[in-house]
Amino acid sequence: MFKIGLTGGIGSGKTQVANQLATLGATVIDTDEIAHALTAPGGQAIEAIRQAFGEQAIAADGAMDRDFMRALVFEQPQARRELEAILHPLIGQVVQQASAVASGQYVVFVVPLLVESGRWRERVDRICVVDCEPETQVQRVMQRSGLSRERIEQIMGVQASRAKRLACADDVIDNGADVSCEALSEQVLGLHRQWCNLDK
Ligand code: ATP
Repeated sequence: MFKIGLTGGIGSGKTQVANQLATLGATVIDTDEIAHALTAPGGQAIEAIRQAFGEQAIAADGAMDRDFMRALVFEQPQARRELEAILHPLIGQVVQQASAVASGQYVVFVVPLLVESGRWRERVDRICVVDCEPETQVQRVMQRSGLSRERIEQIMGVQASRAKRLACADDVIDNGADVSCEALSEQVLGLHRQWCNLDK
């Protein structure tokens, strides 16, 4: 099946685009959602995280303590690698299972750090980047989550730059500050039609 990798920085609009593609008939596999499920209470990654990082890494409800782990991986690159070594193989398994039963016209993998990952770049037929100005990312995420500007800029700092992302793109969706939801939707529909034809 034809495989699209959908990526973009934090707050760029990936989820909004992916939701529309799903309603149009694509099979959407969101690696962020998978990572969340793996680290939710009773998730497959919880015991390995407990063993690697201790009880402090697990919140009272049994989920991974996201605030604790976020702070840890920002401070310690080795901790980031350890967490990735736990999560990536599990995410890979779930992705494979979901791909095997995909019944859409094509598959869309939503991968926030696709450009940063050689493995993901090899796995997809086309890379689609949802693009907007860095300031728009900050504004959208502040509105959505209440995270501070400083925190958001810190997260953006470890993601690929806008230029690097665009350099890898086969398709670009413009979701800048002046792009309305309707204008975004038009672009998504246009790409969906193209991708359905490429599949044949
Ligand atoms: P993350 O990487 O943080 O998961 P994302 O790339 O999936 O973010 P979305 O969640 O789709 O981004 O969008 C971020 C926020 O901006 C959401 O609240 C969304 O509703 C809003 N948004 C996205 N695009 C537009 C737009 N064109 N007009 C208005 N609001 C938008």
